[in-house]
Amino acid sequence: MGRIEISNLTKRFGDTTAVENLSLDIPDSEFLVLVGPSGCGKSTTLRMIAGLETPTEGSIYIGGEHMNYRVPQNRDIAMVFQDYALYPHMTVRENVRFGLEEEPGYTSEERDARVEEIADLLSISDLLDRRPGELSGGQQQRVALGRAIVRDPEVFLMDEPLSNLDAKLRAEMRTELQQLQHRFDVTTVYVTHNQTEAMTMSDRIAVMNDGTLQQVGEPLELYHAPANRFVGGFIGEPAMNFVEGTNENGTFVGTYIEYPFDEPIRENVGGVEGVVLGVRPEDINLRRFPEDGSGSLGDHEFQMTVSVVEPHGDQNVIHLRHPDDTGGDELLHAVTSGTTVVDAGTDVVVSIDPGAVHVFETATGDALH
Ligand code: ATP
Repeated sequence: MGRIEISNLTKRFGDTTAVENLSLDIPDSEFLVLVGPSGCGKSTTLRMIAGLETPTEGSIYIGGEHMNYRVPQNRDIAMVFQDYALYPHMTVRENVRFGLEEEPGYTSEERDARVEEIADLLSISDLLDRRPGELSGGQQQRVALGRAIVRDPEVFLMDEPLSNLDAKLRAEMRTELQQLQHRFDVTTVYVTHNQTEAMTMSDRIAVMNDGTLQQVGEPLELYHAPANRFVGGFIGEPAMNFVEGTNENGTFVGTYIEYPFDEPIRENVGGVEGVVLGVRPEDINLRRFPEDGSGSLGDHEFQMTVSVVEPHGDQNVIHLRHPDDTGGDELLHAVTSGTTVVDAGTDVVVSIDPGAVHVFETATGDALH
């Protein structure tokens, strides 16, 4: 079957360590998204699974068989890259059929039947006699998928397959790819630098940075319990707020914010001094500061001033500064519904539910939760 076991995998190119000591167990039929910023080692990892790069150290098993020295053709994998590399002089039918070229054991009729079957699944039956030049980007992408899936591989490897499509089509293809993956029930490793793709498509996400695996887990697990500051900042859009400060007897003290921790964070921060407060923009609540200045602020509330309002239609991103910070540096950004009207310059009360804050150790970046 298509289980992929990666143990202590390292790849060096001269002085560059592209991937360092990566271990990852991907169960059969899982849709795993490998995500991280440019240069973090995602493609190199995928290329090692495919057999296009040889590991410097470590091992790769697919379906229980050792793969390190096996050529790509003998790994029972299919790959889709961002440029679909269709043959322009061939029809769609010939392009898809080409995926079966190296496969023994098919009669000519069986090959034709298989192409028809795949075309039907991908809704490209009416395009079979066209050439790639006569297709839209989304249609070309589907043909590339068809060519890859036609021989029923154990493992599907995709490297940014949607990056050449416009935003609307990309969103449509995301859903479609996910449905197809479930229908074909094939173990899939999907590389992207786009956290939205990772969140919406995957069964699990593996986040990489600087060649190393930062965390692997279900999308909501990474969102609610990031293992470190990097994952907290990478997963979620708009990005998590970070405020640097110190832990003084269970209270966060920053230049402009004091925030008493509740249990269990209070206990977890224990003797750690340098800490970073992490708050998701959607976990910040805003209300207008009473104009007469009346009313006191609660433990988990503070006064701020709106510096910029960024309308996005369905929501507004509100940039906030401290009222005393006339330089106007942003301290936090919050998200409100698109119907909430606030103007720049308005004083607001910011409240953050103690259960929604994240705390990271400044020195290591590790979460203290
Ligand atoms: P991107 O999203 O930009 O494609 P990535 O996360 O896929 O990035 P990789 O392509 O795996 O990153 O590259 C990881 C590191 O290894 C980078 O520093 C890159 O420059 C380096 N690297 C990759 N391939 C080679 C190579 N053939 N020779 C030398 N260095 C390489």
